[in-house]
Amino acid sequence: MKTLATAQQLNEALKPLRDCKKSIGFVPTMGALHQGHISLVKACRNKCDICVVSIFVNPTQFNDKSDLDKYPRMPEKDLQKLGDAKVDFVFYPEIEEMYPEEDARVFDFGELEQVMEGAHRPGHFNGVAQIVSKLFDIVLPDMAFFGEKDFQQLAIIKRMVQMLNLNVEIVPCETIREPDGLAMSSRNLLLQKSDRVHASVIRELLLKSVEMKNKASVVEVKKYIVEALNDVDNFKTEYFEIVNADTLQPLNSWTEDVPKAACVAVFAGRIRLIDNIRYS
Ligand code: AMP
Repeated sequence: MKTLATAQQLNEALKPLRDCKKSIGFVPTMGALHQGHISLVKACRNKCDICVVSIFVNPTQFNDKSDLDKYPRMPEKDLQKLGDAKVDFVFYPEIEEMYPEEDARVFDFGELEQVMEGAHRPGHFNGVAQIVSKLFDIVLPDMAFFGEKDFQQLAIIKRMVQMLNLNVEIVPCETIREPDGLAMSSRNLLLQKSDRVHASVIRELLLKSVEMKNKASVVEVKKYIVEALNDVDNFKTEYFEIVNADTLQPLNSWTEDVPKAACVAVFAGRIRLIDNIRYS
């Protein structure tokens, strides 16, 4: 495994491989790696000849400065895990490499970004699109792997690829969970002990909402889940939405013939957790 810090170094390393028609897979991350990230690496290694992983805590996607400051960073452990997972290249740039000057690009994702994460984290998806498009420019991957854990982000990335007419296949990967059902997340490390114990309720309530589908109205299900989450000591729901899984627009009834999903964001103490579930 080679760890490279500049776009030029990565270009020089990848060009000969691309020239001899090796397929290049890419997994962008912000580090503090867990089995969720490693599952993306495994999918990448299955589908592509070469696996490139980036680690970059992207400041432009943090709407909350304290969230950026406290974001976990553990470079040695991360490199160890990526080496064990047989990654070929790790791109580990400094801020100046990715943002030699301010990135003033503004993306318009329309209604996709006006709900849920987009509505509650102003500028977040613009920052995501800025960094992912820059990384795609550098890596020029054939395929890029993203977790369904970040359901709306996946939709935004797919839209960005269409808008910019990029030649990269976006491969969705299922959410990897802790044994108690909590979706793995780098932020789980920041949870207070008691909040971590209670956090399995998020998955339990998403499953409960599946049980309630068609038995109670969308409004009733939303009310039940939000109240149940807020009843947990130290938890506060930011949103729980039942949406069209393609457009991410909120649904008001079960009868619409569209794929459906529920997405949730909850504060467990000061730590914000997200999760989702698809309704079949
Ligand atoms: P992050 O480091 O949080 O920016 O995540 C990097 C990538 O890993 C994104 O595509 C995430 O959706 C994905 N990811 C994060 N957590 C999980 C998980 N529990 N299961 C699967 N993929 C995940």
